[in-house]
Amino acid sequence: MPDETSFCSNLDHIRSHMLEKAMQEKQKDLSKIPSVDEILKSPYGIEWLDSYPRRIVLKAIREVLDAKRKRMLNGYSDNLSTDIIAADIEKTIKELSAYKLKPLINATGIVIHTNLGRAILSDKAIENINLVAGSYSNLEYEIYQGKRGKRYSHIKDILRELSGAEDAVIVNNNAAAVLLCLNTFAKDREVIVSRGELVEIGGSFRIPEVMKSSGAILREVGTTNKTHFSDYKNALSGSTALILKIHQSNYRIIGFTEEISIKELVKLGREFRVPVMADLGSGCMIDLEKYGIYGEPTVQDIIKTGVDIVTFSGDKLLGGPQAGIIIGKEKLIQKIQKNPLLRAMRIDKMTLASLEATFMQYLDEEKAVKEIPTLRMLTESLDSIKKRAKKIFTSLKKEISNQAKLEVIADQSQAGGGSLPEIDFPTFAVSIKPSNISVNELEKKLRLGNPPVIARIKEDSLLIDARTVQDKEIKTVVSCIISTLS
Ligand SMILES: *Cc1c(COP(=O)(O)O)cnc(C)c1O
Repeated sequence: MPDETSFCSNLDHIRSHMLEKAMQEKQKDLSKIPSVDEILKSPYGIEWLDSYPRRIVLKAIREVLDAKRKRMLNGYSDNLSTDIIAADIEKTIKELSAYKLKPLINATGIVIHTNLGRAILSDKAIENINLVAGSYSNLEYEIYQGKRGKRYSHIKDILRELSGAEDAVIVNNNAAAVLLCLNTFAKDREVIVSRGELVEIGGSFRIPEVMKSSGAILREVGTTNKTHFSDYKNALSGSTALILKIHQSNYRIIGFTEEISIKELVKLGREFRVPVMADLGSGCMIDLEKYGIYGEPTVQDIIKTGVDIVTFSGDKLLGGPQAGIIIGKEKLIQKIQKNPLLRAMRIDKMTLASLEATFMQYLDEEKAVKEIPTLRMLTESLDSIKKRAKKIFTSLKKEISNQAKLEVIADQSQAGGGSLPEIDFPTFAVSIKPSNISVNELEKKLRLGNPPVIARIKEDSLLIDARTVQDKEIKTVVSCIISTLS
């Protein structure tokens, strides 16, 4: 009768023998993986080193080889042909050397989409950035006198012409503009604001917090829905530095409401010798009523009230680069220019170049509405949007009518960026209901594509809103969708 112990030890022996053999096999397989050096010296390697930084090539080779080794140790038998490994490496090199910040296609219908970069610049603005950025310029140089000049002087005349304001200074964004003004005029003193206007804008810009950071003391008046003239008047005291009116931007208070107009506040400010400031948020410089968009005051109209300081964004309704524009009474603008904080918020020459070009376009309103992308998208006729939607639809229909149910549907777009929140923008979109994958999968695949296409899901369809797809992007959108679905 066989001894049980020896039987077991025999088994152990066999097992360890098999294991050893398997290890040897694996080792043999692993040794088939080419070395980093071999790959670098191959024709592939030589070509990569010619076109990409050595660090990236090395990193990609190591990543791919490591992954292969791991897979093989886990029991997978990978194809180790040079061509296949090279293809993997090349793909990794391309990923590693691609820019992280990249253009994409906005098919959401949200025109001023903060996450997608807000305003698209006009061709003229881009041209001017190219000119000024690639060359020395008179950024802070007074050419006539041959001496040091001011970077803000370039924009002063055009802003005066367009808005009627006496003077101007520009900072990096409107949040900075508000902070700088409060710090300049109201540090350690009171600023009167209606409780109905203590806004929070996306990205954690909250008026009470900005006020605190600026060193100003918030003096809230009125209630959420009603603030009376007397509320402001009663709050005035020896420590009042400023009366501030804030555009509600991304919300509206409706129903039983009352607010005091800038005009009335200016009257009050005059009487008590307190400056009045308006934070407009968007900063609309054309009368949108002509295009059926009601309720947004123009910067020019606000300046006409005699208000002392006005601030607004460069990249919301204005359609320019990210910037905070401060315009108003010369004496006050001069005071802002002396605040050392301005140095920490100063704009660069590229912003200045694109802003000046954008403002110049506003001299001819008809052209501005066609050539500044934000304005063009917001004022485009429904017919014209429908035509673009049909164009996308027709090209898709030819190729993928078996893979998806396609339709042109009426829907709503939005201005976005906290601008014009209560206004409907009727639009047309191509609705895609995929047959073989879920709508969520389709949305994701398009988002991860090259270029990414960002679209919105409505029920079980994906909507490509034609309002925010640029004419030059139609072909690309179509081919992205076709290749995703076929
Ligand atoms: C958007 C907005 C801001 C902030 O402007 P940014 O240019 O985004 O910094 C400030 N105030 C109001 C009322 C706004 O709508």
